[in-house]
Amino acid sequence: MGKKTYQIAVLKGDGIGIEVTDEALKVLRALEQKGGPACAFAEYPSGAGCYLEQGTPLPPATVEACRRADAVLLGAMGLPQVRWPDGTEMRPQVDLRIQLDLYAGVRPAYLYAAHHTPLKGRQAGDIDLVILRENVEGLFASLNAGIELRGEVAVDSMVITRSGTERLVRYAFELARQRGKARPKVTCVDKANIFKSMAFFRRLYDEVAAGYPEVAREYAYVDAMALYLVRQPEAYDVLVMENMFGDILSDLAAGLVGGLGMAPSADIGDEAAVFQPVHGTAPDIAGQGNANPVGAMLSAGLMLRWLGLRHGDENARAGGERIEAAVRQVLAPEGTGTPDIGGTMNTTELGDAIVAHLA
Ligand code: NAD
Repeated sequence: MGKKTYQIAVLKGDGIGIEVTDEALKVLRALEQKGGPACAFAEYPSGAGCYLEQGTPLPPATVEACRRADAVLLGAMGLPQVRWPDGTEMRPQVDLRIQLDLYAGVRPAYLYAAHHTPLKGRQAGDIDLVILRENVEGLFASLNAGIELRGEVAVDSMVITRSGTERLVRYAFELARQRGKARPKVTCVDKANIFKSMAFFRRLYDEVAAGYPEVAREYAYVDAMALYLVRQPEAYDVLVMENMFGDILSDLAAGLVGGLGMAPSADIGDEAAVFQPVHGTAPDIAGQGNANPVGAMLSAGLMLRWLGLRHGDENARAGGERIEAAVRQVLAPEGTGTPDIGGTMNTTELGDAIVAHLA
């Protein structure tokens, strides 16, 4: 049987989303040339620019294409000046998560070079954790459904479901197993001291955790976790939490390892998955050619790891590791990289350097 060709739907979006996705595609194509997995890419319209052209930021045909694809590679979407009539911004990337039911928001924070972290005394690899964010309910369940009354009262509700939490926590424990740290651990991050919804979340965590006796359990309140992550990030493996908490703490975690430009993510469901950098469209630097492409390139790496596991394809899984290894090598010397990480390279120079270091 010939080698499988993965069908990848590409949604570049807006602003630097387009610039960094081009680098992610470059590394995937180069990897294929060097014996890596084969991918066929098809681009689909999406984002604020698409809204201006077609009247919708996420055409149904784009969603359908994402459903059919083996995986989706996304840049970033939205522009602050392009808004719905009610004044809210478009967020097609969030709508896509909900439409494809991508409940697990996987956000790794890995320190690639000591000089990327604002913390003292940390070496490359010392920070190696994953924020696992619930992606389709929690406080975001009120998306498009919150109420505002008489210009006086506004309400968004926190929604925690049994099935939604169980599948997320199961994912967290499976991930901890897979990561294979010497002492795997899943930390439950909540606010169970105050809210019924959060006490429920913790109870469900305990129920699922009972099935994974070899993985350590731990609990922390979300406010305390903001402190712990800054003081002792090396103490964590997988941290599982509600949507909004994950939204906030994943940015904090990105700040520990070089900032938004360095942070990849995967939004995973049972039937589909989307891979994208954590950052937005960065209108302040879009078009200048100096956006950091590493978050997008590492997201392509996460995609290959996921495809590899899903299809039992060791070559694809190893492709993810090869991208990560190239990033580690290129960024090791201080002064390499784009301006956000203290370098002087532009987007394509950094992309080219990473491609050149692919084993
Ligand atoms: P942002 O992530 O776009 O930018 C925040 C800051 O980080 C900016 O100063 C930017 O220059 C910098 N930055 C971000 N990515 C970078 C990179 N790769 N290299 C170098 N610097 C980088 O967040 P924002 O300014 O709050 O939002 C801008 C737009 O993006 C908004 O319209 C917002 O809705 C949208 N957004 C989209 C996504 C997404 O598509 N996943 C996520 C967040 C924000």
